[in-house]
Amino acid sequence: MKCNYCSSKAVYHRKISNEYVCKTHFIKTVKKKIRKTVRKYSMFSPKDKVVVGLSGGKDSLVLLFNVLELQKRYSNSPIVEAVLIDEGIEGYREESIEIAGKMCRKWKTPLHTVKFEKSFGKSIDGIIPNLEKLKVNACTICGTVRRRLLNDKADELGADRLAIGHNLDDQIETFLQNIVRNDLKQILLHPPNGNIKSDKKEIVQRIKPLMSIPEKEITLYCYYKDIPIQVTPCPYVENFYILRKKIQDFINILENQSAEIKYNLLKINEKIIEQVSLNYLEKEINQKSKKNGICKICQMPCGLNREICYFCELKKELNLFL
Ligand code: SF4
Ligand SMILES: [Zn+2]
Ligand SMILES: [Zn+2]
Repeated sequence: MKCNYCSSKAVYHRKISNEYVCKTHFIKTVKKKIRKTVRKYSMFSPKDKVVVGLSGGKDSLVLLFNVLELQKRYSNSPIVEAVLIDEGIEGYREESIEIAGKMCRKWKTPLHTVKFEKSFGKSIDGIIPNLEKLKVNACTICGTVRRRLLNDKADELGADRLAIGHNLDDQIETFLQNIVRNDLKQILLHPPNGNIKSDKKEIVQRIKPLMSIPEKEITLYCYYKDIPIQVTPCPYVENFYILRKKIQDFINILENQSAEIKYNLLKINEKIIEQVSLNYLEKEINQKSKKNGICKICQMPCGLNREICYFCELKKELNLFL
């Protein structure tokens, strides 16, 4: 098969648009899709300072590369910086720290590493013996603390936007997971474009420029652009991802029969948010004004009916407040 855009041999068939693309046009079309998403949702402009959350994994590296490409078209755009959160997981983090460091040096991007142990008080390895007492799994703690530390570092760096590497598959898996759990609030809290609107200036607006790129295209993009892919899995991943893995398998089976399934899920995710959120959030704001909704310890927003946020609750349970 020939590429739809030139006379070279096609290396990829994008079923959703029935496009056959060569290596060069595969890279170009992915880049174009990312730019279209950034424009459609006004994710950032040349004058915005964008900080990229880097995990060292393939998604965040593809994200960083594309954000850099976009911002460097304008000579007076603020410098793009990257933040990597080191959870302290022995045998797992070392590889991604090395990859992230190597790519940031190559792309001349300042990289800031924030360690759980230093900024939260304990590493994930150090928290593992307390899991039974806390009645949660490692990933719940890891995700909560990582989100906070990432936000705080981005805020410290003066970021207007915090870009995170969620791809299409990540987004719809989270969406379906929340559907089967009947958790409307979590659906509203995880919009596909990543916007988090808050009147608190310490909360940096999160964006997901890769929201319309399927995972397999990210993997192929890395291969063609020579971006290394981490191979070591996190030792704590298995238990947490049982439901997610089943959802992933289910979506992939459906996708074999109809190419548009993932995009349809993304669209319905957006529609639900559009139609429900105004009403729902308005109610929540009214209730919040009655019940405050601000953590008594760190002053960051927390869920309804909570005195303190989950981040502070974890610190308290683990005796990490000095
Ligand atoms: S798999 Fe879980 S514990 Fe491991 S890095 Fe991811 S969120 Fe953290
Ligand atoms: Zn081509
Ligand atoms: Zn708090």
